[in-house]
Amino acid sequence: MNRLIHLTLLSLFLIGCRSYIKIGSVKNNVCKSLEKKTVLFAVFVDSDRTHPWSAYDINSTLDSIQVSIDWLEKQAVANGISLDIILEHGINASKDSVIPFKEKFKYESLSGTLFKYKDLTKGIDLVDAWSDNVSKDVARSLPKDTSELVLTKNKLNNRERLIAKLRNQYKTDNIALMFFINNYFENEISVAFHTSSGTEIEYAIVSKKQPTVIVHEFLHLFGACDLYLSPFDHGVFPRLKKRRVMKRYPNEIMAFTHKNLDSLNLSPLTKYLIGWENQLDKKEGRFLVNRRRKVLEY
Ligand SMILES: [Zn+2]
Repeated sequence: MNRLIHLTLLSLFLIGCRSYIKIGSVKNNVCKSLEKKTVLFAVFVDSDRTHPWSAYDINSTLDSIQVSIDWLEKQAVANGISLDIILEHGINASKDSVIPFKEKFKYESLSGTLFKYKDLTKGIDLVDAWSDNVSKDVARSLPKDTSELVLTKNKLNNRERLIAKLRNQYKTDNIALMFFINNYFENEISVAFHTSSGTEIEYAIVSKKQPTVIVHEFLHLFGACDLYLSPFDHGVFPRLKKRRVMKRYPNEIMAFTHKNLDSLNLSPLTKYLIGWENQLDKKEGRFLVNRRRKVLEY
């Protein structure tokens, strides 16, 4: 049985504004609201301890991504949201135009690297460096770009350069960068990084092919948060809040990744976080803020 751990490094940094609270992942970073023209840019990566991507693996994963996209667009229509998701993927031009890129994880696997040190930030830095190295190769494989789009003031890393190029190429701001690894360890994780960050570009690494997992990680990039109980949830109240949400929304995709995609949907909480609703009922908002406060209306 596969052990599926989803870890969202989502520190909901809260910015106080009177009694209204802005949630850090909402309308933030590269992937703001999930609407209009959006590019899901998939990058297939081989590393030492993953199975090499075969043409069959890549094609079946692309099919799975397309199923995920179709489901999301159907949900958008049902919610009156205009959404057009375009699936694109990197092609490793330096290797006779084969698709996968190659980059080793520092400590054998994604989870081995991420959890190498007690201090999780060290592991995140190592995985960031991995994604940055891949991004450098991907950016090189794209057509030359003369735009001078600078996303952060201080430094421009390879992930930022790649995003700037993709934004210019596809003429949209919404670029969801997703790395796919061909799972070797049965218990490998899928994870989204920097979804609340103001300085680091968010991205996801997906180690599964199930559309439910792909949609789940994709939604993280647009601000959704995990609604299932994980070993990373500490404290009685946060755990209680999650249990309540799971009970209230038994088909919520951010809570139940083992279920079939067709049986799942989006709760008001997720719709608010990805920008499909501009306000959240006070009762629903209690998952995010305490009862004296309200989440910001956008
Ligand atoms: Zn998650």
